[in-house]
Amino acid sequence: SLPVIYLITPTHARLEQKAELTRLSHTLLHVPNIHWIIIEDSSEKTALVQNFLNRTNLSFTHLYVPTPPEYKMSQEDPNWLKPRGVLQRNAGLDWLRNNTSPSHAGVVYFADDDNTYSLKIFEEMRYTKKVSVWPVGLVGYLRYERPIVNNGKVTAWYTYWKPNRPFAMDMAGFAINLKLVHKYPEAKFSNAVQRGFQESTMLTKMQLTLDDLEPKANMCTEVLVWHTRTEKSRTKNEEKMVKLYGTGSDPNIEV
Ligand code: UDP
Ligand code: MN
Repeated sequence: SLPVIYLITPTHARLEQKAELTRLSHTLLHVPNIHWIIIEDSSEKTALVQNFLNRTNLSFTHLYVPTPPEYKMSQEDPNWLKPRGVLQRNAGLDWLRNNTSPSHAGVVYFADDDNTYSLKIFEEMRYTKKVSVWPVGLVGYLRYERPIVNNGKVTAWYTYWKPNRPFAMDMAGFAINLKLVHKYPEAKFSNAVQRGFQESTMLTKMQLTLDDLEPKANMCTEVLVWHTRTEKSRTKNEEKMVKLYGTGSDPNIEV
């Protein structure tokens, strides 16, 4: 049977959350043998996410862990200032270590809730031996970033920012065989690592080198995942509604 794709998705409460989760879940409904591990950045499971998941037909695991306040992004922070989703991804990895067997065929992918995924990327990653890699569109202030492949091997990185990082790619640009997650129980992300080094730190802890990387998506020439970011919605007319018409939107209507 097909190896299982384990998707690790950190998610946090904001106006756009349900819209993002709806879009992602509808993509995943088209993917066979997938298990969605969704980890809320919160100190408890929220009703919104709980109800949302209960209504999907996906195979899922619902976890939560809050980001410590000193690392938590505020609304005003530029998005690059603080790491995002770190403890949540680690909770997903630990769940896999405790709930799957090392002999079980699986692949692990870190799928943020706001990216855009072609169905093709899931089939590209499914038979990953160690680590598969591919381009990511709309990231790093470039049209795409990608591994540079020579004679079937990754030799360098096409990226503007710090191309000398050991693995200079976005979280959306690789997937790992489940066996490695079991083999390296200490491999995890950290809020303390230098900005932009989460991916490199994790893969280095798994004793990987460029030679281990399996270039997918037609030798890394096709963009099958996009680092899209959703414009922040503003609701400045809500209070004006109250002032002008005496009533605002119904808080019982979930958005
Ligand atoms: N995220 C989170 N807590 C936060 C901010 C983000 O769990 O305080 C999640 C978010 O839902 C997403 C992932 O972490 O799945 C990456 O965050 P974001 O998309 O904002 O990062 P960027 O696209 O800017 O790298
Ligand atoms: Mn994002």
